[in-house]
Order: sequence, then structure tokens, then C-alpha cells
Amino acid sequence: MVKKVCIIGAGIGGLTTGALLSIKGYNVTIFEKEKMLGGRSLTFDGDNLTLENYRKILSKFSMSVPFSEPTLEEIFNKNMLKGYTLDLGFHSIEGGTMSDVGRAIIETGNKVEMMGTKLGLICNRGFEFPLVKIKDKLRFLPLITRLYLSGEKTMKRLDKQSIAETIKIYAKGKMITILELLPRVATTVNDLDKISTGESFRATQSNLRRGSTPVGYPKGGLVSLSNAFADVIKENNGIIHLGKTVKQINIENGKVKGVNVDDEEFKFDIVVSNILVQRLFNIVSEKHFPKDYIKNLKTLKGTGSLCAYYSLNNIDSNLMGKSFLFIERDAGVEGKDAVGMIEFVTAIPEAGIAPSSKYLVQSYIICTPDEAKSKKTLEKLKETLDRNLEILIPNFYSQLNWAIYPAIWHLDGVAKTIDNIKPDVKTPIKNLYLVGDCVKAPGIGINCAVNSARILADLLE
Ligand SMILES: Cc1cc2nc3c(=O)[nH]c(=O)nc-3n(C[C@H](O)[C@H](O)[C@H](O)COP(=O)(O)OP(=O)(O)OC[C@H]3O[C@@H](n4cnc5c(N)ncnc54)[C@H](O)[C@@H]3O)c2cc1C
Repeated sequence: MVKKVCIIGAGIGGLTTGALLSIKGYNVTIFEKEKMLGGRSLTFDGDNLTLENYRKILSKFSMSVPFSEPTLEEIFNKNMLKGYTLDLGFHSIEGGTMSDVGRAIIETGNKVEMMGTKLGLICNRGFEFPLVKIKDKLRFLPLITRLYLSGEKTMKRLDKQSIAETIKIYAKGKMITILELLPRVATTVNDLDKISTGESFRATQSNLRRGSTPVGYPKGGLVSLSNAFADVIKENNGIIHLGKTVKQINIENGKVKGVNVDDEEFKFDIVVSNILVQRLFNIVSEKHFPKDYIKNLKTLKGTGSLCAYYSLNNIDSNLMGKSFLFIERDAGVEGKDAVGMIEFVTAIPEAGIAPSSKYLVQSYIICTPDEAKSKKTLEKLKETLDRNLEILIPNFYSQLNWAIYPAIWHLDGVAKTIDNIKPDVKTPIKNLYLVGDCVKAPGIGINCAVNSARILADLLE
């Protein structure tokens, strides 16, 4: 008999799960509490967005806009977002053209065009691009070869070793800069004592094996990813209900029975939760779970950042399509230095997310969730973002149409740090599973959410 699967949440993790399981012949139903697909990867259509809706959705996803230029009221009153497509905040996908999410879409029979780029570095005098040049690659060759050939046993040993320790033991010269930058960007964590070497190297290793660009962005905005998975689900007779909140997961004798949606009861053979794991016990009774499991899930920490979208009238062609990292020393954040990124991939006209002759630049700087709520820290981080853009585009204010700075205190569901132990896809309850970026799976953010879905699809073979 065909098994009925309920997926709670239409984030990238829930949608990938839906696509993979519906292809396998499962009868898939997704309930999503918002009226839009994508969860933290959702995309706004500037033509139809109101200030009230913008603020409402941001607050639902643990975000606010502490700064803008001009005021948000003026931006909306003057219809300045007309013709723009905006995600919740800065997004750049690790692995670029060959990212895990891009490959999953291809494997499920669909296609999304990804625009990939290498990474450059902003320095006092301007920038270097790419950051890792051929001569650096040759110098790092022995290390790259060792990394490429390392097995999971070595990676597991390095899981417990922080990047700070790795730098102290092995790195010299430019390798120090690279290890100060890339693991921070990959994890959205500034504190090198908390970042696991194993996790960071694993991500680099999979990029090396694929030979892909370090980062990328989908044409048309993140919504293209969600739509691609949703199309596969619908083609395979799955159903996605938007604006439907799962109020309770029903469990009997240690086994899942179904869910209650807005007071209506539905029976399912399998229930998959895509919601933030810290909130799981808002919809399922704790009495069914071991105490340690509950305590761990509730105390897992996410990541934060301050983003900035700049709409500009002109951009030097030398910057177009490129991505630049920067490091702010003594930034007054946990981990001392703060790393950020300014990206001109979204500025390419083919990205299709800005009106003609306008260029959308996205950027972000990493901070902790608590720092993302502190006005004083945010002011300093905003100043850092603007100053780094100024290095790339002197006097950028003269080219500015508007700027919006969204702050986020739940960027990654669970930070991939040494002290956070992510839960497995499998839970202590029979036929109840977890997917998304809160779950133990390779990669960070969107890729982690996609890979958790793959793990589940393999488990349910
Ligand atoms: C501003 C910002 C910038 C980011 N930048 C990057 C980046 O550059 N690169 C990257 O890889 N990742 C980035 N991320 C992280 C990335 O967006 C997430 O990792 C990914 O979208 C998480 O997907 P998910 O499926 O795990 O969960 P979510 O997207 O959180 O999906 C969960 C869904 O469940 C729904 N839901 C919750 N409760 C219920 C309920 N009771 N009933 C029904 N539905 C429910 C929610 O509405 C939501 O749609 C960023 C995130 C943000 C917010």
C-alpha cells in the first residue's frame, strides 16, 4: 500500500523531501503555515509587497530592518521596490554552479540556472580577485592533495579540532588569511574557537571533488529553487497546502499517528518536521521523548548577521558578477574579528531581480544572534558594510537609489559549531523524522537542508 507522508513546512528541506519522496511513489502532503513557499529561502516580489506585509513576514522569520536609506515608509510610499525581487536577506549558495541544491534539482528532473563566481578579497587599497590565485594553489598543492584524498576517518578526528587550533598548528602565510575567512563564511560564525575543522574541510573537499565555483546564486532569486521542487512534487501527485499550520503531531505508543491542522485531524504513516528544532516541542508533547533529547534540541543555538541590499544606478564592469570577502579586525563581536561579503552576482542584469538600468548588490556581515539584536553592535556593523562598499565603489552614495539593512537572529537553524550537537534525521519516535538545516547533514544552510532530505530519502528506501 502507498504510504502517506506528511511534511510540516515548505522550507527548502521540506520541499526537497517532498520532491524526493513523491518521485519514489510516496503519497506526499505538505502543510506550510505561511502563504508563501520557501521558509527562510523565500523571495518577495517588490511589485506587490506592502510595508505591513514586509514587516510581518520579517518578524515571523526572526528579522527586522534597523536601518534603511531613505526610511522604509518613504521606500514603500514612493514604490521604490517596484521591479525588484528580494529574498529575506543576503543569500549565496556554497558550491555555486554545482551546489548540492542545484544537483538535487537536476536529479529530480528539473533545472534552475545558477550563476557562479570565485571569491575576491577587499583590502585597504582596493581588492584582489580571485583571492586564491594559481600561484597560491601551487603553493598549497601538497595540502590540497592531502585534503582531497582524506577519508572520513581523518575528517571525524578533525571534527573536534577548532579552526583556531588548526591555524596555530599548520597554517602560515596566505593560508592563515584563507583559514580566517572561508570557515567563517561557510558557518556564519566569527569565533574561530567554535568552528570545527572537520566540518569546514569536508565542505571544501566536496567542492574540490566537484571542481565547482565556490559560491553561486539562482537566476530569478531563491524562489526559483522552491518552485523547481514544488513543480516536481505536483507532477508526482503531491499536494502543498499554503497558509495551513500544523498545531500538533499525534503520537501513540511511541509511533506517529498523524497531525492536527487548524483543529482538523489527519492520519499519516510518516510525519516529517521541517520546522526549527528548537520549536518542535511547541507542536508535539514532550512526554514521548527522552529528557536529554528535549534539553539538547531546546538549547541549540542558531547564527545571525546584518545584511544590506543596495540599489545602485551604476557599477564598474570590473566588479560585475564577482563576490568579495572582507575581514574587520577588532569588530567588537564574539570571535573578535568579523567577516562579511559583498556580492555583485545579483547585480548582473541576467539575474533578473532588478529593473533595467538598476543594479542590486547584496552583502552581509556575520554576528551572533544576540549581537543581531543589539542596536549599538548593528550600528558598528552597518558602518563596516558601507565602508567596504565604499572601497569598491568610491562615493557609492552618489549612485544610491535605496538601501535596506535586514538583521537576522536565526539565519542558520543550528550553528555548525563544536559545542552544538545537531539531532539526527531519525528521532526517538517511530516514523517521525526531522529535515532542514537544524539536522545533522553535510553542508551549511540551504545545502544542509537539501542533504538532510537526501538522508531521509535513503533511509526510507
Ligand atoms: C537572511 C538570511 C540569510 C541567509 N543566507 C544564507 C546563505 O547565504 N547561504 C545559505 O546556504 N543559507 C543561508 N541562509 C540559511 C537558509 O536560508 C536556510 O538554511 C534554509 O532556508 C533553511 O531551510 P529549512 O528547510 O531548514 O527551514 P525553513 O526555511 O525555516 O523552513 C521551515 C518552514 O516551516 C514552516 N513552519 C513552521 N512551523 C510550522 C507549522 N507549525 N506548520 C506548518 N508550517 C510550519 C515555516 O513557515 C517555514 O516555511 C540564510 C537565512 C536567512 C534568513
